[in-house]
Parts: sequence; C-alpha cells; structure tokens
Amino acid sequence: MNIIILGPPGSGKGTQAEKLAKKFSLFYFSSGTLTRELSKNDPRIRAIMEKGGLIPSKEMSEYVLSYLGKNSPQADNIIFDGYPRLVDQYDLLKKWVEGKGKKIDLAIFLEVSEAQVIKRISSRRMCAQCGEIYNLATNLPSGEVCDKCGGKLIRRKDDSPESVKERLFLYKSSIEKVIKKLDEDDLLQRVDGDREINEIQKDLVKLLESYERN
Ligand SMILES: [Zn+2]
Repeated sequence: MNIIILGPPGSGKGTQAEKLAKKFSLFYFSSGTLTRELSKNDPRIRAIMEKGGLIPSKEMSEYVLSYLGKNSPQADNIIFDGYPRLVDQYDLLKKWVEGKGKKIDLAIFLEVSEAQVIKRISSRRMCAQCGEIYNLATNLPSGEVCDKCGGKLIRRKDDSPESVKERLFLYKSSIEKVIKKLDEDDLLQRVDGDREINEIQKDLVKLLESYERN
C-alpha cells in the first residue's frame, strides 16, 4: 500500500502521516525532511529554502527517487508526506513505483481554511539545531528547548503571517494541478482538516483500513 498525503503548509499532514506510518508500519517519507537534509550540505539549496522557495522540480524528483531507491527500494508500503508537489513529480514517482510492479493506492488531501492555516503556522517553531517542528497550539515541546536535542526553538523566517500568505498562494497554484491529476487517476480522497488532530486521525485510519481489506 502506497499513500500520498497532501495539504497546505500548516495542515498538520506531517503529524497525521507520522501517526499513520507507525500504525500501519509504513516507510515515512517527508520531502521537507529530505530538503532540510540536502540544504545542510548544499549552500545553494539552503539559500532556496531560506527564501521559502522550491528546489527546481526535475532536480527534486532526482533527489527523491535516489533517496527512495536507497531507503525503500521495494517501492511499497510508503507514505509520502507533502510529495509530489507538482504534476511532473507525480508522473515520475508513479513511473518509479510502477516500474517496481507496485502502484500508488491512495491520495489524501487535507483541506484547511486559509484563516486556520495562518493561525497554525504563526504558532509554529523550529529547532535551530535539528529542524524538528513544534506547534505552540498543538504539538508543544515539554520545555523551552527542543525535546530531541536541546536546541533553541525559533520561528522560521518564512513562518511569519506575510510570507505564509505568499506561500499559500504559491502552494494553491501548483497543487491544484496535482489534485486534478490524482482525481482523474481515481486516487483522491478529500478530508476535512479543520478539526482536532485525533478526530482527523480516526477518519484516516478508517480510510486506510478500508484500502487494506481490498
Ligand atoms: Zn532539536
């Protein structure tokens, strides 16, 4: 079972995807984690990320497929968090999965209102050291510093309300095409993301269980 989970920044898709990965023993792939990892070793990528931009699409596809080839080469039981962002990335991912005799089974789109997104992102903090994301509204660190490494918690430059609006605009214009494609491929399930984390998770678990039975 391969699952794609998409949603605007701040939709909580990462939290949901990680929970699902644990429950269903799926390999958790996060494009955000991969790009942070890449930006540590590559100043050019770091500059793109700091501006809130995107790595050129084809290049991103290459990084992703090479990473998956090493870490999840069977191309099965993967949950894709926030990837693919663009239609050409989707096409290449599908080709890779199908080349291994597998398929993408389900795509979940977490729908969240713009007001909710802005509220959630403005309360987001990142560990300056390891990149772990916390949310002062939902995923509170136990102290003043990062639970994982003790690093300082900061608000990312691109998490300010002004740049959130800008990012949302960019996100919408690109993701709509991917959503349309997923819908045409009969993979898309829309889920109301304007609810409490556990409520959303319950719905997603039901959805995955129904696919597992088929
Ligand atoms: Zn940390």
